[in-house]
Amino acid sequence: MQDGSLRRTMRAAVLRGKEDLRIEDVPIPAAGPGELVLRVGAALTCGTDLKVYRRGYHAKMLTLDRLFGHELAGTVVERGQGVTAFAVGDRVLPLNSAPCDQCFFCRNQQQNLCDDLLFNNGAYAEFIRIPARIVEKNTLRIPEGVRFEDAALTEPLACVIRGLEESGVSFAPDAGSSAGKTAIVLGAGPIGLLFIHAASLAGLRVIAVVKRRDQVATAQHFGAEQVVRISEVPDPIAAARALTPEGRGADIVLEAVATPEAWQWAVQMARKGGMVNLFGGPPSGTTVALDTNLIHYSDLTLKASFHHTPASARRAFDLIVSGRFRAKDFHTGAATIEDLPRVFRAMLTRPTEGVVAEIKTIIFPEGSSDGAEATGSQTAGAQTGGRVEGEVSAGMAGGSVGGRQR
Ligand SMILES: [Zn+2]
Ligand SMILES: [Zn+2]
Repeated sequence: MQDGSLRRTMRAAVLRGKEDLRIEDVPIPAAGPGELVLRVGAALTCGTDLKVYRRGYHAKMLTLDRLFGHELAGTVVERGQGVTAFAVGDRVLPLNSAPCDQCFFCRNQQQNLCDDLLFNNGAYAEFIRIPARIVEKNTLRIPEGVRFEDAALTEPLACVIRGLEESGVSFAPDAGSSAGKTAIVLGAGPIGLLFIHAASLAGLRVIAVVKRRDQVATAQHFGAEQVVRISEVPDPIAAARALTPEGRGADIVLEAVATPEAWQWAVQMARKGGMVNLFGGPPSGTTVALDTNLIHYSDLTLKASFHHTPASARRAFDLIVSGRFRAKDFHTGAATIEDLPRVFRAMLTRPTEGVVAEIKTIIFPEGSSDGAEATGSQTAGAQTGGRVEGEVSAGMAGGSVGGRQR
């Protein structure tokens, strides 16, 4: 805010339709009971947001006409009644969801599958309201010296850490069980690269299977010991297996491409008794043919992973804060909110050979560091039990949507 007066609106990205992202003036949110309002310090682009942008919906996370973006970190500018854990001025990392901790799945240590998972969107904005449940269960204080854009990588890394833990990889400080195991990571997009880096930090020997030439160096940079570029070998499955001990296949295969072909390859790259994590989510309705004999006689474990839990989020955050995880190397560009439609249009175009692909673009909200006031401009509506936050229509500040998103 340039003139120091009390502003009532902010610039924010709103998804209005399929590939229709607009930057609009919307009311600055206010903090209701238990809530926080943050001034966004940095937000990150994400493959999930790109998917939502391209398809115009997300099965669980977001519907149209809503504030957009879910990876962010920022500074508390207002706290609602009853919040004691955070103060105005605190730098915090809010996760994009929080579980209910009461349903069957939550009680069964599967909070990522919570029947009542509450999602929050609106990272691509100057300010964002954090719902009470996320404040209470899934907001972390950022230590001094850790940058907003690095902390904001917690959300995607939390999904990856959980995927690895579910595949038998431990991130406990005294863990030695994963060391020496071989993992094949299929794909070198942002999630594939997070897998490569996190798996190598956990002591696994990582073989990456990539498509483009630039991804060979990127995969190596993040810890892949060996890289198979699929166009350079006659049979990528044989080539990847040949790099595993005695050619027996990988202990763990991590699929991060999200195509039926990649799922099929992943199954064929595992060793007998191995684990295959089919992490990438192809569009709904996709089916895949798998070799039943191979799965049966090789005693394979096939699994998939969705989302994160408060525990995996904390492990991801700790890994970033420790400095061992090279968060800043994932940031390949920076832009303002006004640039965002252009950034998303560019992300739609597949990177061409020979051009180093973008991993994450940091979105710095303009005016985010000028001490803008966010208080008193809106009356927060009551929390109505809605499950996807970030509604833009009337009452947006406290808005929520009735009914769960499926
Ligand atoms: Zn994300
Ligand atoms: Zn639950």
